Amino acid sequence: MSMFTESEERLELRKQVAKLASKYGRDYFTSKARSGEKTTELWLEIGRAGYLGINVAEEYGGGGGGIGDIAAVCEELAAQGCPLLLMVVSPAICGTVIGRYGTEAQKQKWLPGICDGTGTMAFAITEPDAGTNTHNITTTARKDGDEWVLNGRKIWISGVDEAKNVLVVARTEDQRTGKVKPVLMVVPTDAPGFEYQSIPMEIVSPEHQFQVYIDDVRLPADALVGDENGGLAQLFAGLNPERIMAASFNTGLARYALDRAVAYAKEREVFNGPIGGHQAIAHPLAQSHIEIEMARLVTQKAAALYDAGDELAAGEAANMAKYASAEAACDAADRAVQTHGGFGASQEYGVAGLLVATRVGRIAPVSREMILNFVSMHSLGLPKSY
Ligand SMILES: Cc1cc2nc3c(=O)[nH]c(=O)nc-3n(C[C@H](O)[C@H](O)[C@H](O)COP(=O)(O)OP(=O)(O)OC[C@H]3O[C@@H](n4cnc5c(N)ncnc54)[C@H](O)[C@@H]3O)c2cc1C
Repeated sequence: MSMFTESEERLELRKQVAKLASKYGRDYFTSKARSGEKTTELWLEIGRAGYLGINVAEEYGGGGGGIGDIAAVCEELAAQGCPLLLMVVSPAICGTVIGRYGTEAQKQKWLPGICDGTGTMAFAITEPDAGTNTHNITTTARKDGDEWVLNGRKIWISGVDEAKNVLVVARTEDQRTGKVKPVLMVVPTDAPGFEYQSIPMEIVSPEHQFQVYIDDVRLPADALVGDENGGLAQLFAGLNPERIMAASFNTGLARYALDRAVAYAKEREVFNGPIGGHQAIAHPLAQSHIEIEMARLVTQKAAALYDAGDELAAGEAANMAKYASAEAACDAADRAVQTHGGFGASQEYGVAGLLVATRVGRIAPVSREMILNFVSMHSLGLPKSY
């Protein structure tokens, strides 16, 4: 086996996912988005096929694979025009954190639903005031007898309307100030005191983002995943998978944009021959092909390191993958629009919508600035700048 290609098994997985997703495709995805519907059929079908929980242990309904597998699934879906953001949060973040830190009973309770798609779990860390600075989160969990009482505000939380539960990052009352020692609580979306409101977005997607209001939400003792003094490690367990998944989401979207552009460049003729015969059109697309391949390689490297248990090296690679993939995706979307001329802005060809979708990749789940901060400090040894 060459060191620079994925295993036969992984490549076959990609093929099968692409086949499944192509039955749905971009038109299905955008028409659901525009009519305010959900892509539930697709979500449940990938669940039934075993792809949704492919990274979760087999005894809880998963496929026993790694982050590299679920990342491949995410990328192939996006490459067919069906980017599913909730794959990043439900199986990759929540599935990983619960799989690692949950008790046996918690794993039995939540993982099977994450795997088959009937118990999707959202993830809520971002707060209106704290923003990127997670140390400033103020959502607080207070102990009251056997129960927890949770209070706080979250913003930009994806898919709350489609989720049964949300894994909420909070701090305990006696850790109210100072560097955050996060606690992770599973909150049912129908719990009294838990409310949410959709944030109108310019992204063409059936998956929505929400502002979340948590007011005196009472939770049983076993809502707490992991140790209440477990600290940052429990939270960080979900963050490398998140970045690797986001990178795969981005490279998939980038491939989709490039495929559309190349197809159009081959068929559209205005002077002599197809427009793709002009280097002004061909070269930017060739550049995108190179940039996407580079982003995919570092993403696969990050996944391989993560699955091999080297979290430190995976952290650097996952950050670089997220950065490179977002840049590749933004450029690919922009070039796809340019290649299409006037149709680049039409709904019929649907490439303009990719501008916003890919642009978000530079902001979430971690911004390019914070990645550059990380690389400056950890990879280059420069002083901390934030
Ligand atoms: C579509 C979408 C889905 C999301 N889904 C989720 C979700 O499911 N769950 C969840 O918890 N969150 C989610 N988020 C939130 C996302 O992770 C945040 O938006 C992101 O981390 C940036 O935080 P912010 O929006 O508060 O920006 P801010 O923190 O306000 O930052 C604004 C700008 O300032 C820059 N900046 C801030 N501090 C520094 C610094 N020290 N140095 C240099 N630059 C700096 C940032 O890079 C950014 O460009 C989602 C966001 C979007 C857009």
